[in-house]
Parts: sequence; C-alpha cells; structure tokens
Amino acid sequence: MAGRILIADDVTTNRIALNVKLSAAFYEVLQAGSGAEAVAVAGRETPDLILLDHDLPDMDAIEACRRLKQNPKTADIPVLIISAASAREARIEALRAGAEDFLPKPVNEALLLARVRNILRTRDTDEELRMRDGMNHEITGCELGFAEPVQSFAPPCDVVLVARDPETTRQWGAALALHGQEGIGGQIKALSRSEALTATESDPAPGIFVLEGGTGSSDDGLYLISELRSRARTRNAGIVVILPEDEPGRESAAAWGAKALDLGANEILTAGFDGEELALRLKRQIARKQQADRLRETLRNGLRLAVTDPLTGLHNRRFAMASLRRIASQARASGRPFALMLLDLDRFKQVNDRHGHSGGDLVLREVAARLRSEIRGADLLARIGGEEFLIVMPDTDISTARKAAERIRRRIIEHPIHLPRSDTPLFVSLSIGVALGGGGKAAPSMEELIEQADRALYAAKSHGRNQVNVSRSAA
Ligand code: GH3
Ligand code: MG
Ligand code: MG
Repeated sequence: MAGRILIADDVTTNRIALNVKLSAAFYEVLQAGSGAEAVAVAGRETPDLILLDHDLPDMDAIEACRRLKQNPKTADIPVLIISAASAREARIEALRAGAEDFLPKPVNEALLLARVRNILRTRDTDEELRMRDGMNHEITGCELGFAEPVQSFAPPCDVVLVARDPETTRQWGAALALHGQEGIGGQIKALSRSEALTATESDPAPGIFVLEGGTGSSDDGLYLISELRSRARTRNAGIVVILPEDEPGRESAAAWGAKALDLGANEILTAGFDGEELALRLKRQIARKQQADRLRETLRNGLRLAVTDPLTGLHNRRFAMASLRRIASQARASGRPFALMLLDLDRFKQVNDRHGHSGGDLVLREVAARLRSEIRGADLLARIGGEEFLIVMPDTDISTARKAAERIRRRIIEHPIHLPRSDTPLFVSLSIGVALGGGGKAAPSMEELIEQADRALYAAKSHGRNQVNVSRSAA
C-alpha cells in the first residue's frame, strides 16, 4: 500500500469523489464526517496524511489542524486543507496552523495527487534520516561513547529568486523584505535561470530557490528544477514554486505545478505571488532544510567515526581492508604494482611496563603522526591492531617501497620521543614487513599478500627487530 490517507468532509459525495481518486492511486482511505471524528480517527489510526475540508460541521479545518498539531501522537502527520474559499486569509491561517498546504476547490486532480506523493516522499526521507540517526547514535554515541558534538548553530541559508523578468524578482524581493526579515537569515538574491544554474557550482550553493512557475507543458522552468535536483551541491536545496495567478490559465498552471512537485519542488504557491505566504513557506523550508542538513552532518560524522581509530585518528582495520580491496582491484585493472607494509612496534610491552598505559598511548599517537607525515596523499595508512600499522602504496615498485620503508624506520628510531613524566627521551623502533601486490592474473590475493607481509615482518623480528624485510615473493 502506498500510504494511508484520512479524508475529513461532511459531504458524503465529496468523500466518495476523493476516495475514488485516491484509491485508484492505490492509497488506503479512512473517512471522517466531522472535525472531532477526524481528530479521533487520526489519534487511533495514525494515518500518513490527513485531508481536511475547510468547512467541517463542528469546527473549521484550521481548528481541527490545531488540535491535531497539539497532540504529540498526531503532530507530525502532514495535513492538507481543501477549501472553496481561496481567500488569502484562509491560506495564511492554514499555514500558520501548521498545515502542509492549502488547495483550492475544485481540486485539480493531478495537482492533488502530485502533492500527496510529494508529501509522503518527503516524510519517508525524513523518517529514513531520523532512523539512521538513531542507529548512528546507538552505535557511535552509546556503545563507543565518542560521538562528537554536532554543530549546534545553523549556518545561514541563502535564498535565490528566479523569474523570467527582473521586475518580477524585484517585486518578490521587496515583499519579502516587508514580511520575511526574521527567520530567513541568509542573503536574498535575484538571478536569471542561467545564472541560477551557475550558482549550483558555487560553494556554498544557495539553500533555497524560489522559481516562477509556467503553464501547461512549457518546460523551461521544469528543466531548472530537475537540474537543481540532479546536481550534488543543490540536491538538498529547498525549491519553492510560484504558479501564475491568472484564472483562465489555472488548469494548465496546475498541470505545470504537478510536474514541478513530481520533479522535486517542495512548496507550491497555487494562487500566485503573495509576500506573506512566500515568507511563511520560506521560513518553513529553511527550518526543515537546516534540520535535515544537521542530521546528514551527524550521519557523516558517525560514518567517519565508524572507520576511524579513536586513539590516533588513523583509519581502522575495517576501513583498511575495504580500501585495500579497492586498491588491489585497481592494480589488477591497470597492471601496475602496489606495495603493502605491515609495521609493528618493537618491544612495545616494555614501553607500557615502564611508562604506563598512558605513556604507551602517547607513543602510539606520536608514531601515527610520523607515519602520516611520511606517506603520500594516495597512500593508505591504518592502525590495524594495538601497535600494528598498515601502509599500502599504490603505483609503487619494490625498490621504491623498500626505500620508503627504510625512511620510515629511520624516522621512528632516529628521533626519540619525549614523554611528559620522564626526563630521559625514549627511543622506540619498529619492524616492517613488505610485500608486493600487482597487476595481472598471477597477482597474489589480498589474503596471500597480507600473509607474505606478515611472514616478512616475523622474520624482521627474529633477525633482531628495527629493520625492514621484503617478502621473498616480492624481492
Ligand atoms: P615485539 O617486538 O615482538 O612486537 O614485542 P611487543 O612487546 O611489541 O609485542 P606484544 O604483541 O607482545 O605486545 C604488544 C603490546 O601492545 C601489548 C599491549 O599491552 C600493547 N598495546 C596494545 N594496544 C595498546 C594500546 O592501545 N595502548 C597501549 N598503551 N598499549 C597497547
Ligand atoms: Mg610489537
Ligand atoms: Mg604486535
């Protein structure tokens, strides 16, 4: 089932007509004949969306909407208000009461269905984000206990106004200045359509686009919407569409609006431009976008934490193995060799015994920092065990690898580490086993390669430590 929709209307024929339209689109329909009934059914059934007729017998839709928003159980269910009175006051009141949108009667079927699809899709995305955030919190916040504090202030969100002629955007801008000062925060700029496309390349890209809608199948502005949605920097931007207001063109403007919604517009002003309405919708879009951006940022941090070693900030084993697999398959494709090194600190247990675990930790951090400064950008460096590190160097032959390993070995042993609670500088060393991965069919598997490097490392240890040993299969 595509979703459950509650229809509240006291006129049975209206309910039947809506029911037919929605059922044909595979929605499950619930019905209510009054405001009180709608509120009760919503509380019991928690539908995915509620359609309220404006004039319910016991209360108007605004009041019903307010009651739904007051109950935590129904507060997040989107509400669409349908009204014969297309007076702007009714529209503004509906938005202020927390309704998702306001559609005038007679309802344009294509526009209604597009709006319903659009609302349900947005809700699914939000829920998905929230669910992943919950999982993320469980994994990184509670179990590992090192969730980073999330940026608590929202960066300002720039708004771009795009219309066919500059006079239109000038009027929009002036009206917004009157209604929208607080709550918008960022800059408001007017751009032509081609300038708007260029703005998608800027960094940071504008957060919200306000676009002048067209009529019928004219696709100039529709093209802009799909471009905004497909480009990385504006994929998550808010898109607000203002449909032309002239009455004769209404059907065809509605058809255009339906297409805009399906392409990913978030808000649609069906009755033409109104400064107050635009300001209300803009503030709502900005708040939503900032919340979604925050969630995405938290998720990114969580992902980063899941592949990072908390002590040294290097990649962890999980990341290293996935990354090694990719480097190996690229090498197979290109036919060029790559080097794999396993590095293990010598007699590290003694460091812990003499300087305590925290002293040992400091040494691990210092070694990690030195390793990081010795490798190239394309190389992979990870801490894969207590005092074991892995380095993978793509496009590297054996003599280059040997030289690099030797340089790293010297960099560790030749510069003693100063521990805060000790007067004598501490000399640590490491042993390195090197193996060579390569292109072609005969190349060893990832597991074989690690095995070779491990054997080479073991030999370096048994030959006295503080040395580089290259696997015989690579030499
Ligand atoms: P070898 O030269 O043969 O490698 O000797 P070793 O002492 O380095 O080797 P062994 O594997 O016996 O000991 C490794 C030590 O590393 C034991 C463990 O307590 C310590 N270690 C592992 N992880 C950490 C860590 O996160 N912090 C600290 N301080 N020590 C750690
Ligand atoms: Mg060791
Ligand atoms: Mg070890």
